[in-house]
Formats: sequence, C-alpha cells, structure tokens
Amino acid sequence: MVTSGGDASGMNATIRSVVRCAIDQGLDPVGIERGYSGLILNQVIPMNRRSVSGIINQGGTILKTTRCEEIKTKEGLEGAARTLESNAIDALVVIGGDGSFRGAQDIRKTSGRPVVGIPASIDNDVWGADETVGFDSAVNVAVRSTDNLRDTAYSHDRTFLVEVMGRVRGFIALEVGLCTGAEYTLMPEVREDLNKIAQDLRESGHRGKKCIIIIVAEGYGDSREIASYLSQESGIETRLSVLGYIQRGGSPTARSRRLAATFGASAIEALLQGEEASIVGLQGNEIKIVQLSETISRRKEIDLELYRLSRNISQ
Ligand code: ADP
Repeated sequence: MVTSGGDASGMNATIRSVVRCAIDQGLDPVGIERGYSGLILNQVIPMNRRSVSGIINQGGTILKTTRCEEIKTKEGLEGAARTLESNAIDALVVIGGDGSFRGAQDIRKTSGRPVVGIPASIDNDVWGADETVGFDSAVNVAVRSTDNLRDTAYSHDRTFLVEVMGRVRGFIALEVGLCTGAEYTLMPEVREDLNKIAQDLRESGHRGKKCIIIIVAEGYGDSREIASYLSQESGIETRLSVLGYIQRGGSPTARSRRLAATFGASAIEALLQGEEASIVGLQGNEIKIVQLSETISRRKEIDLELYRLSRNISQ
C-alpha cells in the first residue's frame, strides 16, 4: 500500500485496517514509503500487525506521502512497474485522493497489476465516495477554530472572514459554513455579489446581528483583497483569519476512523474478488465498488440545496 497526495487525518487508521485485514486473509502486506516517489525509488518496507500498533489515533501517515510529478512520465511509470515486479507485489492499494487515483490508473496500465484505491483526502472531491477519510476530521478542526473566532467577533462587534482549505472545491467551506452558522459562505462553485454582501453588512446592525462570520474557500479568490473590499464598502471592519495547515492534522474523528476501518476491509475484499482497477466508495451507508476510469472522469457535485439551507438558517 501507498499513501499519496495531501496527508489526511485517518490515513494511519486506514493503513492499520489494510494491513490487518490483509494478514487475516493470508496475504503478506508491504508499505511503500513517500508516495509515488517511493514507488519509483523502490522504497518498500515489510508490514506486520505490530508495525501498525498505536497509530489509530494519529494524524498524518507513518508511510509518509509526496506529490510526485515523475509518476506522470513514462520513465516514472516504468520505475513504479519495476518496483512492483522486483518485489513480487501482486496488487497495489492506493490511499489518497482524486489526483492519486489518476496516477493509480496509469500505474495499473503500465504494470498490468490490480490497483484498488481508498479515498483519503481532506478535500472530499472523489466521485463515487460521499465522504473521504479525513474530511470529517478537517471539518471538525475548522468548526472548532471558527467557533473560537465567533467569541471575539461577538465581543468586538466585528466581522470575520475565515479562510478554510479547498483550492479547487468548496466541500470543506460548505460544511464549515453550515455547522458554524456562518452568515455567508464563499466557495468556488458559486459566485457571490460582494457588493450585496457589503450592503448586508452595513445593514446587519439594524437587523439585530451582533457579529458576522463569512467562510471563504481558499480557491474562491484573494481572501486578503476580499476582506479589505468588504471593510471599505461596508464601513464594518472585516478581519481575515486564515486557518491553514492546522486543518490537516490532529487526531482523526470517530467518523474518519470508522470509514478507515471499513474502507480498508473492503479494499482487500475487492482485490480478492478480482477487482483490477477500482476504488472503494461510499454511497449512502453502503460501500460500493467504483471503477477507477469512472471516478477520475466524473466531477463530484456540491450539494446546492445544503448551501441554500445554510444561508437561510443563518440570516
Ligand atoms: P490527492 O491525491 O490528494 O488529490 P494530488 O492531487 O496532489 O493529491 O495528487 C497526488 C499525486 O497523484 C500527485 O503528486 C501525482 O503523483 C499523482 N497525480 C495527480 N494528478 C495526476 C494525473 N493527472 N496523472 C497522473 N498522476 C497524477
């Protein structure tokens, strides 16, 4: 197994589940260190039940992870295939997000070996998986931090613009906005009229609003410019707080650990049943097998109903 792309809290719990479920099935699991870079450079370590002891509650990944451009090249893919071949690795489990699954599809094609993906990413942008391992953990960190900011916002009659992660998609922003009662949520999928928001801010005092929280996904635009525009146009001081990397780390939530446990078991089961190029997904409460080709070619849509609900109940 390999962990790849951005780290997500619950990757360790996933590794633990994969290792122990594989051993239960009479398989001999090994770990690839440092993502696809380690796969190319033949960094393979044996894993046993004890090598995953005491990690269920730890963020990050004991296998380490990288963003590896070389896997997009012919030489890189051939190196990865050589590592699988020379170590007699029969199948690869890729623990990562949408980008990692694109790489996984290429590795499958070059090596001819079965590949099964487990969605683990704070971004939650994997088609076929309602939720990825790590999403709930990141959201909970951001919710707690935003609650803290609201105390200050209330005490000083101030507006806070809170930047959360999400360079391309607004899944974290939407969830955090909904769960913190943010008055506005800015995410890349929906363009907002900032002028209208500034006007609302100006009038908020008349409506009895004591403080305002605006959640913005990092991919929406330049947060610093948005904060200064809103301050200028509304006359209400709008302070920016960028939550940044603290959202990635920390102990995984129960929900992320649960997903990790079931995804790990399902990935091993899928391989034993002959799946060759797929991921284990979650649809409703059911684990589903989704073809790699399908998940990487489809875009997971944001729930606009939830977005409207979030707005309605926060005004
Ligand atoms: P995530 O898997 O969390 O979405 P990234 O998007 O950073 O994270 O992707 C992780 C890694 O997957 C990249 O560093 C690269 O090695 C590989 N990857 C990403 N996109 C592609 C692609 N289009 N084709 C092949 N490999 C890719």
